Amino acid sequence: MNSKTPGLYIHIPFCLSKCPYCDFYSATSISAIPAFLNGLFSEMEIYRHRFDPFDTVYLGGGTPSLLSPEQLEDILINVRKNFDLIPNTEITLEANPADLNPPFLESILEMGMNRINIGIQSFDEKILRFLGRRHSKKQAISAIETSRKAGFNNIGLDLIYGVPDQGIMSWLDTLGQALVFSPEHLSCYQLTLEAETPLGIRRQAGEFSVPGDELQYEFFMKTSGFLEEAGYIHYEVSNFARGIEHFSRHNQKYWDHSPYLGLGPSAHSFRANQRWWNHRSFDQYLASINAGNLPVQETETLTIEQLRLEALYLGLRTKKGVSLDDFKNQYACDLFTEKKELLAKLEEVGFISIRGGFLYPTQNGLAIADSLSLI
Ligand code: SF4
Repeated sequence: MNSKTPGLYIHIPFCLSKCPYCDFYSATSISAIPAFLNGLFSEMEIYRHRFDPFDTVYLGGGTPSLLSPEQLEDILINVRKNFDLIPNTEITLEANPADLNPPFLESILEMGMNRINIGIQSFDEKILRFLGRRHSKKQAISAIETSRKAGFNNIGLDLIYGVPDQGIMSWLDTLGQALVFSPEHLSCYQLTLEAETPLGIRRQAGEFSVPGDELQYEFFMKTSGFLEEAGYIHYEVSNFARGIEHFSRHNQKYWDHSPYLGLGPSAHSFRANQRWWNHRSFDQYLASINAGNLPVQETETLTIEQLRLEALYLGLRTKKGVSLDDFKNQYACDLFTEKKELLAKLEEVGFISIRGGFLYPTQNGLAIADSLSLI
């Protein structure tokens, strides 16, 4: 059913300190890194030859840049030992600006990493402090400049908007500062506060409020307009690239039902009609592996109808939209006849347009893409 090239995701579950808005799984006990790496290499061995060759490897987290160049190289050596990589595989490292210096960057380039995604979040000191980031504006600027100087020609920056008290002008100023460095890729995320995070708890206690729907919509539209005017392609809800060749090859796999294998605590995997995810707890993850088992917490089998709806909503997160022919071939479903009422409704409220055999999200459709499936 799925002939797309798979991608490999590796979750590095460590951070030096925990940002108070973050809901990702990570621990601050960095002394456990060697034990984690042993577990990770065993997990790779269990999956050996179980996936077709990958054309992307993404080291995310957590904070992968906390690892030493030697530890990162060990990861790539084990990846190559256990799996086949297609020539010119996109290999991305997520990095905290505070960790980037010339020797580190030169080492990781030399070992084959060809894309770096830096968690800048903001160029405003006050916002960086509110978000509990461990880097300063100065370190953010230096990280981008040093990455460029070291030879990275595929740099992505992560930025956050919708922070309490942040006005649109202050956000556009941050975007303008990012553009000074002509990054190949920008991810602009709206701040979301899960209830159980420290900032989520403070918000519930009434210490501050976050922008309401109307203001969030304005942030979204202004971001899209500002970056498109600067020549960036708004190719997915939160993602912008300075050309088609700079779309994140790895992230696209999540939106087009390509298979992917996720290794490490809490990592998710997907293939054909199955999705599975690893134990979130580091101890449980290691215990499973040490017992010779896959550290899988749960597996979900999707029905054909679930796959179809998911493919539709994921496709409508992207500018390229959904090809009716491709959809028919992959999911044995003629959207025009089988989802006629749903499409008519989405078109009527202005969230999609249908032309040339494709369904495209409108700007308004992209703005509410996270809740499209609830309509
Ligand atoms: S550095 Fe990233 S993964 Fe770590 S706590 Fe902060 S936001 Fe979460």
